[in-house]
Amino acid sequence: MIRISDEYVVDILDKKNEPKAFCHSGDIVVFETRDCYDNSLTSEERPLGDRGDALENPATGPLYVREARKGDILKVEILKIALRSWGAMRTSVSGGEFRERYEKRTARIFSLKENRIVFDDRLTLTPDPMIGVIGTAPAGEGVYTHTPGEHGGNMDCNKITEGSVLYLPVNTDGALLALGDIHARMGDGEVLICGLETAAEVTVRVTVIQDSRIPTPFLRCRGRVMTIQSAVTLDEAAHLASNRMYDFIQSVSGQDDVHTGMLMSLVSDLAICQVVDPQKTVRSEIPESVLEAYGYVLP
Ligand code: CA
Ligand code: CA
Repeated sequence: MIRISDEYVVDILDKKNEPKAFCHSGDIVVFETRDCYDNSLTSEERPLGDRGDALENPATGPLYVREARKGDILKVEILKIALRSWGAMRTSVSGGEFRERYEKRTARIFSLKENRIVFDDRLTLTPDPMIGVIGTAPAGEGVYTHTPGEHGGNMDCNKITEGSVLYLPVNTDGALLALGDIHARMGDGEVLICGLETAAEVTVRVTVIQDSRIPTPFLRCRGRVMTIQSAVTLDEAAHLASNRMYDFIQSVSGQDDVHTGMLMSLVSDLAICQVVDPQKTVRSEIPESVLEAYGYVLP
């Protein structure tokens, strides 16, 4: 099996990045990731971290998929997310929904042992691991790993989890997939500005497909499918996500505009992925059974 060490990280997704591993379509690859603090936040005593040179949101890779050509789609099956035994969170004085409440940054370290998160002596939570940053090289200029976009990137969508299938655009030969910023769990919105940040070993299968209808980034998770769109405002992101799903349903069902709009209003759910990154991210979800009713099976 191909394995990419966490020695190989980038903080920008870019066509110019040098591949750190090569694979064929259909291969299984393990990405060893660092946490979003570049593994520098190791103690509650040092909330700013141990090192001044830490990267923000390092992503492991990139991986070059030999058969991938511009215009293809990269299907990424998330097979396993094996978490490190601990994670960290940190308050922010400049970002997130509660920034006015804090005068300084405070960190907390949580154990992830025995598949549980002991929040305090009364509340224990269950991990629900997700991938915050996952993307291919963008079509244009490079995009830093703190920003989401058409290439994926820092989407912070908690549905990108074990068992999910993510469809990303291929904008350059090899696709150049990279991923990192794993959260042991996170609610929709990422309202504090972080999830329970941790490192992990993420096992994926990558397959090159051709299907011009799939509106990337597109996700299949637990019986539902979703478009994921990012924009400066939530309104704009909601408009984009809904309209991408509209076009997709219309191409699958062959319905006219009136019926497509009605169907969307009956079955699509808008949800916020995150409100804390340079662009906000919204998804439009529908049950996969709607696609099945029209005879469409995702490749
Ligand atoms: Ca993130
Ligand atoms: Ca994060």
